[in-house]
Amino acid sequence: MILLNRRLQTEKSRRFEATLNGMEKAEPDFGNTVNAFAYRSDSELRHAYWLFRVISKKALVSACTPLIRMAMSLRLPVKPIIRATIYRHFCGGEDIGACAQTVSTLWQHRVGSILDYSVEGKERNEVFEATTREVIRTIARSSGDSAIPFCVFKPSGIARTGLLTRLSAGMSLDENEQAEMEGIRNRFERIAVAAAEHGVRLFIDAEETWFQDSVDDIVRDLMARLNRKEAVVFNTVQLYRTGRLQWMEEAWQHARDNGYVLGLKLVRGAYMEKERERAAENGYPSPIQPDKPSCDASYDEALRFCMDRIDRISICNGTHNEKSSMLLTRLMSEKGLRPDDSRVWFSQLLGMSDHISFNLAKAGYNVCKYVPYGPVEAVLPYLVRRAEENSAIAGQMNRELMMIAQEWKRRRKR
Ligand SMILES: Cc1cc2nc3c(=O)[nH]c(=O)nc-3n(C[C@H](O)[C@H](O)[C@H](O)COP(=O)(O)OP(=O)(O)OC[C@H]3O[C@@H](n4cnc5c(N)ncnc54)[C@H](O)[C@@H]3O)c2cc1C
Repeated sequence: MILLNRRLQTEKSRRFEATLNGMEKAEPDFGNTVNAFAYRSDSELRHAYWLFRVISKKALVSACTPLIRMAMSLRLPVKPIIRATIYRHFCGGEDIGACAQTVSTLWQHRVGSILDYSVEGKERNEVFEATTREVIRTIARSSGDSAIPFCVFKPSGIARTGLLTRLSAGMSLDENEQAEMEGIRNRFERIAVAAAEHGVRLFIDAEETWFQDSVDDIVRDLMARLNRKEAVVFNTVQLYRTGRLQWMEEAWQHARDNGYVLGLKLVRGAYMEKERERAAENGYPSPIQPDKPSCDASYDEALRFCMDRIDRISICNGTHNEKSSMLLTRLMSEKGLRPDDSRVWFSQLLGMSDHISFNLAKAGYNVCKYVPYGPVEAVLPYLVRRAEENSAIAGQMNRELMMIAQEWKRRRKR
């Protein structure tokens, strides 16, 4: 009996090793549309195709955006149309409970969700407090649920950016401003401590450069306090910015000297035009890389930097770029890391680049998708950004459309 048990155990561990070896060799196939859209029914796929065709038309998106905004402010009945079209594709639901179906569907394919409360643009203390409580509710919901491996918030959702900007510019704050700043630090802290207590990892998104320095300072203190054994708090690095590799080197040195793990979400950056315009208007050098190849080179260099220091860094590769996603899988393999190493994650947005997310998950990598949620009118700015981004990045759009069309054609032949 004892011998039999031993044999079974040896068999089991041999099988486990074989699976691991297989996983290490497995390279994701981003061209596989069967895996990419397995979670979409035929009617959902048709809807996605139609939607991406419409939003790929730049002129149409530019003409419709102000009209939709006006219709919403006049309370014309456009909400049901938005809910049934673009909202349905890019959002999980109006509240945490309404995201349950999306979370479960993604997790059936081993793709995690990040509940992203996407209400934007209300600069009032009560709203900041309400958002803080809502983010903490997402943390409580994620607690102990592997299907929701991260939570997230945007600094502008819980802080007045005007004040963060003054602080970032080195301006002195009066007594009221100092009190307000204490309130802001307290909100960051309450969220991060809740994440640590519930054992949930937390992303803090990056926004415009002119208030990022003060956010970086707050997040660094939280990481030094809460990332003692593993990364709970993750700051975001935008590699379309010049000088960010140097910033990463300093952040890593600080983590090493102070004995904590650096949590970093790498992204290219979402506010390029706004950044360039502000720099030109105010006569300072643009903080953005001169062109796309420099941005890409910097991004890939950042991936290498992190992988060379993976003993003290946990990373999330927040991108829809196939080359950067593939590069990270290769770097992991070179370092001898298992695809599901808990320090390395890949992330995309709901409704975008499913060919990357689902094929990575199929090959055993850790993948999660932002699942934005909130009332339709409050999520509108997020949806407009998705529409504009998809009509602006022609190459990316063609790829999405092409993949959906290819899968649709395959299904019709069955
Ligand atoms: C999971 C996730 C989380 C994200 N979180 C954040 C966040 O916290 N903060 C944030 O700002 N963005 C965030 N983003 C958005 C991200 O920054 C990019 O805007 C978006 O993902 C497109 O970049 P890409 O790497 O996916 O793909 P690509 O299509 O390869 O790159 C497009 C990006 O390249 C850069 N770029 C394009 N043209 C030029 C040029 N001429 N010169 C210099 N750079 C150029 C821009 O950043 C542009 O967005 C997130 C994205 C994802 C998927």
